[in-house]
Amino acid sequence: MAGLYVHIPFCKKRCAYCDFFSTTLLERRKAYVEAVLQEIAERKREADTIRTIYLGGGTPSTLDAADIKRILEAIDAPEAEEVTMELNPGDATMEYLLALRAAGVNRLSIGIQSFDDRLLRTIGRRHNTAQAIEAVQMAQEAGFENLSIDLIYALPGQTMAQWEADIETALGLQVQHISCYGLMYEEGTALTKRLEDGEIKATDEETENAMYDRLCEQLKAAGFRHYEVSNFALPGYEAKHNSSYWDGTPYIGIGAGAHSYLPPVRSWNPNDMEAYIAGVMARSLQRESETLTETDIYNERIMLGLRTSKGIVGPFPIQSRSIIERILRDGLLKKQDGRIVATQQGLHILNRIIEDLMI
Ligand code: SF4
Repeated sequence: MAGLYVHIPFCKKRCAYCDFFSTTLLERRKAYVEAVLQEIAERKREADTIRTIYLGGGTPSTLDAADIKRILEAIDAPEAEEVTMELNPGDATMEYLLALRAAGVNRLSIGIQSFDDRLLRTIGRRHNTAQAIEAVQMAQEAGFENLSIDLIYALPGQTMAQWEADIETALGLQVQHISCYGLMYEEGTALTKRLEDGEIKATDEETENAMYDRLCEQLKAAGFRHYEVSNFALPGYEAKHNSSYWDGTPYIGIGAGAHSYLPPVRSWNPNDMEAYIAGVMARSLQRESETLTETDIYNERIMLGLRTSKGIVGPFPIQSRSIIERILRDGLLKKQDGRIVATQQGLHILNRIIEDLMI
């Protein structure tokens, strides 16, 4: 069983906070799709059964539905239970959504980020609130029964009241899955430049933690399971593809910059679209790789496991045991059904806990 990820690096416009690998050279889409089809043909047999497919980006919805169909036909995995595609609300039309469904997409991840037009402009998104709401409703009308939306909190100048309103609006849309991230000021982005120039102010840690706690409370009260630090799902709607990253399932990554993991080897394609297209078409793609050591695998288990509600389970190396005991005493980790999971307070400083536990 494996997952298959396809990276579509195109974006119509760069968002102010984004440091992902993406390009606005939309005129290269056709050449890129041909390379993706070629790589799929060469590599799909690396996994016996493909259980999940994820088309991510960038913005996969910059591609025509006909190209999405060609990609899914090339993968040719009728057994796949979950076929997710990321969608920018600005790209949603009924015709497009129906064509995606007909092509085999059965789950959409819609990048809404905020329901506040002023905040959407601040972070440089190309859609507005009305388009976001309409995209969700249209997807439901088109027959999608498994929808996820992305939201970002701790946006510059965002108040708790605004954030609570966003959560309420999200719940009102009756989606099955919600992913929420605190805004990160990544090096080199337009937003970080504005922060450094004093034009905007970052949210303080206390407010950011309070926003996260409010989110967890409100979604839990609405019946969502908090199954990963940033992910919430109605029972049975946990993202299968993303869950496989967290539990160590093999996956194949297709496209520029995409990573693959066929235990114990991790490999990745060049993070350069032209090098990727040229390499695939000349049948000489240089893919870098590393073989994970026992220590790497242990550290990944800690890092990924503690992000999920499943937590981690021993045996733990001798040097970690006293650290775990201390963090348990501090109330940042707790024992639950024979496993160790982060407490709500622990989730606020999860990266520090993970660092302490890695060997
Ligand atoms: S649409 Fe997504 S990938 Fe593209 S620039 Fe915006 S955040 Fe980054």
